[in-house]
Amino acid sequence: MAQAKTQLTFCSGVGTVTGANFLLETADGTKILIDCGLVQGEKVAENENGRPFPYDLSKVTALLVTHAHLDHVGRIPKLVRDGYGGPIYSTAETRELARVVLEDAASILAHEARQEGTTPLYGAEDVARVFDRWQAVEYHRTFEVAPDISAYLKDAGHILGSAMIEITVRPNGPDSRKILFSGDLGNSPAPLLRDTEAVGDVDYLVMESVYGDRNHESRADRAGKLRDIVRQTAGRGGTLVIPSFAIDRTQVLLYELNRLAESGEIPRLPVFVDSPMAIRATDIYRKSQNLFNDGVRDEIGRGRDIFAFPHLSYTMSKNMSAEIEAVPGPKIILAGSGMSVGGRILGHEERYLSDEKSTILLVGYQAAGSLGRELADGAMKIRIHRQNIKVKARIETLYGYSAHKDSDHLVEFAATAGDDTGKGRLARIFVVMGEPGASMHLTQRLRDELGVKAVVPERGQAYDL
Ligand SMILES: [Zn+2]
Repeated sequence: MAQAKTQLTFCSGVGTVTGANFLLETADGTKILIDCGLVQGEKVAENENGRPFPYDLSKVTALLVTHAHLDHVGRIPKLVRDGYGGPIYSTAETRELARVVLEDAASILAHEARQEGTTPLYGAEDVARVFDRWQAVEYHRTFEVAPDISAYLKDAGHILGSAMIEITVRPNGPDSRKILFSGDLGNSPAPLLRDTEAVGDVDYLVMESVYGDRNHESRADRAGKLRDIVRQTAGRGGTLVIPSFAIDRTQVLLYELNRLAESGEIPRLPVFVDSPMAIRATDIYRKSQNLFNDGVRDEIGRGRDIFAFPHLSYTMSKNMSAEIEAVPGPKIILAGSGMSVGGRILGHEERYLSDEKSTILLVGYQAAGSLGRELADGAMKIRIHRQNIKVKARIETLYGYSAHKDSDHLVEFAATAGDDTGKGRLARIFVVMGEPGASMHLTQRLRDELGVKAVVPERGQAYDL
């Protein structure tokens, strides 16, 4: 039934960092979805992913996608299989990276289902069908998603192709509404990507809050700390093992490691990218260098291939992967998963965690319950592949390479709302995609420091705009 006003419903992705799925419904009943991510983490969450969507799929006109992370795209194959027949819009890079992410997800889901004797949430054939209806749109070009509803993508600076989505309902009507969905927001200035753009003059802002209650270590220190860790590990003759997210973190670390080696700050060690998914993602980054920031594009213009340098090996096959350990002397291994919950990193951790000369370097968010979190929390003993392993390697953390804005920069971002005169029509900020404490903390800061109306929305509740 159509309601009198435009409404926004937070179907999931509130009170948690995963599962983004927001429904915008106009007064005449047109329904638009923003993101359709997997709820990740605990068993309860897995059951949640299997539940029917809380809206009539045949009545949804369009799905817009902010970026290719699983917690923003991971339920799209289920959405299409359950009956969604409309178009999907994102940047071309998000579309390409989403293919890598969803194919990987389908194979993990199949593996888990085999082990547990259950049916997977979706399969490879469901993933393939998604891309028939997935259309690429460019940044900074207004396009129509439904009669009287237009969209416009701005750079979020989070991962390659990541976009903030600005939706305008009834552009010319007296009840016109402009809403900006931030997606995830990059930790600008980032080594490779461009900076997050300003909010602009919108009526409503829906923004993420993963690090709403914490600040990262300073960006100036991050390369220095990476340099010190590489030098110290090499000095001991050890191996530096980096559990790394396949998209963005791996490419950023390759860029930084090469830069440090070229300037002579670290020795030129063998570097292995031991993750088929990261290798595919790096290929997409290499093809999309027009989206990098000016400094990196200048370097590329001078003929540098930032993803190919001496002693760098991409080990696609399992055989090549197995040979890494036989390479003598200090070396650097990047492998997934980033939280050590699966993937080839486990084999390397099994080998090097008990080696006091080696270092495990944690470079990203480690969710509760993951092996990475156990290591970050200082576990002395852990279990991998049904074996107990004593942790003798050094465990280091380096969160300055996070792909998310921290608390101070989230507030700074929200402060860019408004027009050129510094005035604006911002009526409310909805704070989403964070654990409850992080979202509440950011909400309070936005109220206190910017004097804006900010709320953590209730899950499942429709808000009048
Ligand atoms: Zn993300």
